[in-house]
Amino acid sequence: MSRTFSILKPDATRRNITGAVNAVIEAAGLRIVAQKRVHFTKAQAERFYGVHKERPFFGELVEQMTAAPVVVQVLEGENAVAKYREVLGATNPEQAAEGTVRKLFALSIGENTAHGSDSDENAAIEIAQFFSEAEIVG
Ligand code: GDP
Repeated sequence: MSRTFSILKPDATRRNITGAVNAVIEAAGLRIVAQKRVHFTKAQAERFYGVHKERPFFGELVEQMTAAPVVVQVLEGENAVAKYREVLGATNPEQAAEGTVRKLFALSIGENTAHGSDSDENAAIEIAQFFSEAEIVG
């Protein structure tokens, strides 16, 4: 069993489809072992996506991530990081496979409904930014 970190992005909360996304996550065999709704500050969004700060879309990304609340989650399962990336599909919804979260729900490459960690190491770092161990109940 391993863990990954997930964010249901503002386009999901705005459209009231977080339950629909969770249904896809659970159907894939991932378990939501922690979950809460938060409204990212600009500083939180800039920190979370700091790796992209030189990219031309950084300003737009920070704006999109702070436009409405998000749902931060810890997901548990076998090979959770890779499994969840598969469930999410490609970053650009136009390239996402059928049945994936982004194919089903994403509006655009920026408003692409959900985030999933890209490595076990980053999953641990991202989880620790939002959850204490006591809040994760497997
Ligand atoms: P991910 O790991 O699949 O989320 O993709 P990346 O780490 O490459 O990018 C992080 C996030 O930045 C993506 O999920 C998108 O929300 C956003 N993003 C990436 N490329 C673009 C782009 O060209 N335009 C905009 N607006 N956002 C982008």
